[in-house]
Amino acid sequence: MIIDAHTHIGNSFWGQFSPEFLLDIIGDDVDIAICSNLEGIDSFTGKDEIECNLNMLNACKKFPKLKPLAVCEVDRTENADKIRKLLSEHPEFIGLKFHPEFTKLRADSDKYNDYLKVAQEYKKPCLYHSGHIKSRFSSPELIYKKAKEFPEVPIILGHLSTTTRECHERAIEIMLESIEKEDATLYADVSWVEIEDVILLIESLRKTKKGDYAHRIMWASDAPVGDFNQRQELYIKNLKDFKEAILNHFNDKNLLHNLMYKNAERLFKL
Ligand SMILES: [Zn+2]
Repeated sequence: MIIDAHTHIGNSFWGQFSPEFLLDIIGDDVDIAICSNLEGIDSFTGKDEIECNLNMLNACKKFPKLKPLAVCEVDRTENADKIRKLLSEHPEFIGLKFHPEFTKLRADSDKYNDYLKVAQEYKKPCLYHSGHIKSRFSSPELIYKKAKEFPEVPIILGHLSTTTRECHERAIEIMLESIEKEDATLYADVSWVEIEDVILLIESLRKTKKGDYAHRIMWASDAPVGDFNQRQELYIKNLKDFKEAILNHFNDKNLLHNLMYKNAERLFKL
């Protein structure tokens, strides 16, 4: 069993991604892909919150391998009324998705509050694009600041943080701080993170002052975003290389299964 905890469909800045295109890339190796519609992130398409998320839901009904996150257009709305209505009518949505970087809305803005209240009411995890440590929109520090206002809501640092080792180290420090202080519920997905830094993340979370927190880590690709995520043979190779590297380093099949699907399964109640 494998769950890809971060994938997309939709026509946007990043490309033209039909559900069939995504499914073709992930192939038979992946059993579940947690998916959101980029058309709600890139305002170029102008699709409103309900329309783009209902498109996502319809794709999931047609292809049950896909499980939907509701994209939140926080930068373009007054409040979360539409998302609240969407979740009340469609419990199939397993979580919410935010992109503070692309939408240029600081992750600590109060505009997110109503959305996070919805996440709290419906007990849904929130996947954030977590950017460079110096990003004024999506740094893990800003996400942590907001997560502390909603400590019960699981907040996923998508990509942990972007780019360098230094960014990943800082994001890991933030996760450790939140675990030690118990002041936020932070998870991370490892899309775009080099294997050396994933290993550092696992080692750090396995031995926190509060015990083993490796259950807060999920494998993910972000497919089809990024060249390497748009070709089936590369996607399959990266997946295989990841599994081998984890097994070689830790020699622990339980850990591997947790990373590849069990952690996501528990978090998203799949
Ligand atoms: Zn993404």
